[in-house]
Amino acid sequence: METLSFLDGQTVAVMGLGKSGTATLRALARAGVSAPAWDDDAEALAQAMHDGFMVSDLVEAERSKIDLLVWSPGIPHVHPTPHPVAVAARRAHVPLVCDVELLARANLAARYVGVTGTNGKSTTTTLIGHILAATGAPLGIGGNLGTPALELPSLGLDGTYVLELSSYQLELLDQARFDVGVLLNITPDHLARHGGMEGYIEAKASLFAKLRGQGTAVIGVDDAPCRQIFEALRGRGDITVRPISAERFIEGGVSAVDGLLVDDSEGKAEKIADLGEIASLPGRHNWQNACAAYAVAKACGMEREGIVAALRTYPGLRHRQELVAIIDGVRYVNDSKATNADAAEKAMVCYDTIYWIAGGQPKEGGIDSLEPLFPRVRRAFLIGQAAEAFARTLAGKAPVEQCGTLEAAIGQARAWALKEGLPGAVVLLSPACASWDQFKSFEHRGEMFREVVEALPGERSAP
Ligand code: ADP
Repeated sequence: METLSFLDGQTVAVMGLGKSGTATLRALARAGVSAPAWDDDAEALAQAMHDGFMVSDLVEAERSKIDLLVWSPGIPHVHPTPHPVAVAARRAHVPLVCDVELLARANLAARYVGVTGTNGKSTTTTLIGHILAATGAPLGIGGNLGTPALELPSLGLDGTYVLELSSYQLELLDQARFDVGVLLNITPDHLARHGGMEGYIEAKASLFAKLRGQGTAVIGVDDAPCRQIFEALRGRGDITVRPISAERFIEGGVSAVDGLLVDDSEGKAEKIADLGEIASLPGRHNWQNACAAYAVAKACGMEREGIVAALRTYPGLRHRQELVAIIDGVRYVNDSKATNADAAEKAMVCYDTIYWIAGGQPKEGGIDSLEPLFPRVRRAFLIGQAAEAFARTLAGKAPVEQCGTLEAAIGQARAWALKEGLPGAVVLLSPACASWDQFKSFEHRGEMFREVVEALPGERSAP
């Protein structure tokens, strides 16, 4: 793990004691830097005290003495309402940064790949990691997903950090610089936190302002906000700009029309691979992720053969169109990570006969945008807070069952799928909602799905 000893002598405070905050405290402790920390949650505070960390209300703290405030990206600091600690810190001109910034300051030698976008970040980050691992070079893969930045291994000149970056983290970077930056796509999400779409786009685009000289910008051009950013980037002579598209051939870039991966980065439109053959990367959205990962691996110096071989062995990520079981011919797919309509759409387009489990804590816009896909829904099984609203949207377009809980929804979906006996039937948990009304996290929701499905009776076939 990287040492934060460069902070020796400075007063650092940590706000938020979740995964990244506690990892930061541990990293500071390893470097002998003691830092006051705060969290509004009494349990988190008690745990921190129990672990021997110094707890102090940062609103009350003598801020003139704080040099740097490490902020947990999940806590609002500007919109919709800034946390009082952020207000007080800004008034005292204390800079707010996230843990990724500390990693970047601690290690200037390694190569950095930053991955952002509304959807596909985790898939692309792990896919890039999987491909680069084939070179045998040391890697640190994490950030917003999995291992927090400050718990990644310490890497030297030959090492590469592949970091998933949320828009919240991007807002909290300052001196961090990336050799390759990836922006996959932008659709409306987290708007309240960014004060609207403009702020959200600005946060995402800021990644490219943080590229090192001669760096590479890999950018999806399948949505209007990203296309605009691409157009603006084209004028920059100091970096390589590599557009990617899963919808059309793209000059000078990497595309995957109908799954055929084509690399035109050297102007030769080389046909590279048929992504449709790779079961762990289903659907056009994953082809976008694969285009990005391919472009990154090339920017890191890999040859196409090695990249393609690694793409073929990608194991896939849990909770993203994860085929949990095939029971009595019915496929059970856990897509719990689809926490918004756009993500759910990506899964739904992959199947024709869907017994759809949806609902949870609703997101802006609900499921209105999914209407063109309702003909694929044989029946919807609704759960959570959004159930009533979703039923209204689905009225007259697909039959609906109000199920209340995930367990009941799985039972009913199974019963209907068996009763109708249609070929290609899929029980799909793709909720288009956050999970927090009924679960601890989307992972918890996905685990529950797996548990219940694994306990179902019937004849299993190999996925
Ligand atoms: P993130 O880390 O950005 O949330 P994930 O890789 O975890 O993204 O994927 C989350 C969900 O988003 C997946 O279940 C899938 O439905 C959808 N998704 C994945 N990749 C893309 C993409 N490139 N474009 C749009 N949606 C995607």
